[in-house]
Amino acid sequence: MRYDVAVIGGGPSGAVAARILAEAGLDTVLLERNLNNVKPCGGAIPLGLIEEFGLPSELVEKKLSHMRARSPKGRVIGMHMPNGYVGMVRRERFDSYLRNEAKKAGCTVLEGLMRSIERKSDGFVITTLNDKLPQIEARYIIGADGANSKTADELGFPPNELKVIAMQQRFRYSPAIEKFSDIVEIWFDGEVSPDFYGWIFPKADHLAIGTGTEDKKHNIKTLQKRFVEKIGITETPYLDEAAKIPMKPRRSFTGERTILVGDAAGLVTPANGEGIFFAMRSGKLGAQAMIGHIRNGAPLDLYEKGFRKLYAPIFFGLEVLQSVYYRNDRLRESFVAICADDDVKRITFDSYLYKKMVPAPWSVQMKIFSKNIYHLLKGS
Ligand SMILES: Cc1cc2nc3c(=O)[nH]c(=O)nc-3n(C[C@H](O)[C@H](O)[C@H](O)COP(=O)(O)OP(=O)(O)OC[C@H]3O[C@@H](n4cnc5c(N)ncnc54)[C@H](O)[C@@H]3O)c2cc1C
Repeated sequence: MRYDVAVIGGGPSGAVAARILAEAGLDTVLLERNLNNVKPCGGAIPLGLIEEFGLPSELVEKKLSHMRARSPKGRVIGMHMPNGYVGMVRRERFDSYLRNEAKKAGCTVLEGLMRSIERKSDGFVITTLNDKLPQIEARYIIGADGANSKTADELGFPPNELKVIAMQQRFRYSPAIEKFSDIVEIWFDGEVSPDFYGWIFPKADHLAIGTGTEDKKHNIKTLQKRFVEKIGITETPYLDEAAKIPMKPRRSFTGERTILVGDAAGLVTPANGEGIFFAMRSGKLGAQAMIGHIRNGAPLDLYEKGFRKLYAPIFFGLEVLQSVYYRNDRLRESFVAICADDDVKRITFDSYLYKKMVPAPWSVQMKIFSKNIYHLLKGS
C-alpha cells in the first residue's frame, strides 16, 4: 500500500499528527506496535492542553487544583491554582481515544512493529514484524515512536540524549490511601530521587506513585521502594511500570521528507519531565508544516524552527532550574522554601497551565531574584 504520510508510533504525538494529516485530505497511515499499549506515565496534563485539543471531560478523570511540595526535611508547601487545574488521564484510555479520532478523520490505523525503513528516491519502504501486513510505502514519514525511536535510528537522526529512567506503581484506594485522592504531591528529596523528583498522582480508582533518575549509580527499584515506604504505604501495588524519558531535544529533528515528534524528538521538559503537552503540540505543528510542505512547497524545517521559537525559553529555564536546585538536599530545601512565595506560585502555575512565559512586574522579578541568590548562597 502506498500512502502520502506514514506516522510511526500511535502515542499522543503520532495520533495527533495522523488526525491532522488525515483531516487535510492526505492519505495517512498510523503504525502502532500494540494498540493495547499501556504507556508508563503519570498522565498529568495542563488545562491549556485540554482546552486546545477539546479533550472530552470523561477522559480527564480528576481535575486537581491543589498541590503540595515536600522538602527533604519534610517541610510541606501547599499550593492552590485558583484559575485552573492539573488534569489526570489514564494513558490506555487517552491514547486509544486519540487514535480513534485519527481513524474517524480517515487515517488507516495498523498494528505492527516497524522493523526497517528503506529510503527510495521518491519516498520510503517500511517493513514490519507483522506478517499479515503488506509492505508500507510512503512519500513522507513522521517518527513518533517514543524515547527509543527506531525510526530516528533508521533515518540517521542525531541521538536522543539524557534519558531519565522513571518507575511508577499503581495502588488501588484503601482507607489508608484515600487521603491522597484529591491532591497532587511532589517530593523533592534526595532519598527518593537524587536528581529528579517523586510524584503522587491520584486517579479515579487508584494512586500512581513514581520517581525517576538520570544517575546510573542509583537503582530505580530501590528508590521507588524507599519512596513508597517513606509515604507510609504498606499496600501491594497492582501494576509496576517503567520507561525512559528523554529530557533534551535532539540536535535536529527535521530531515529530508521526515520529521520526529514528541519523545522521539526528545521534547520533554527538564526538571518536571512533562511530555504529553509537547508531544501533542509537536504532533500538531509537525503535521501542519508537513501539509504546507506537500501542498505549497514550504520548507519542512519551519516545524522545528517554530517549535524551538515557542518553547526553547521554557526548556532553557527548566534546565537551569534542574541543574541548580536538584543537585543536593540543601539546595532542594531552598527550592521548596522559594516555592512558598505567593508570586512564585502564581507565576509557576500560570506558566504551567498554558506554557507561556508570564511576564512579572520588575518589583516581583527583583524580589524572586534576591530570594534565589539568598537561598543559593544558603544551600551551597
Ligand atoms: C513513568 C513516566 C511518567 C510520566 N509522567 C508524565 C506526566 O505525568 N505528564 C506528562 O506530561 N508526561 C509524563 N511522562 C512523559 C510522557 O509519557 C511522554 O512524554 C509522552 O508519552 C510522549 O508521547 P509520544 O507520543 O511522543 O511517545 P509515546 O507515548 O512513548 O508513544 C510512542 C508509541 O510508539 C509505539 N512504538 C514504539 N516503537 C514502535 C515501532 N518500532 N513500531 C511501531 N510503533 C512503535 C509505542 O508502542 C507507543 O505507543 C512520563 C513518562 C514516564 C516514563
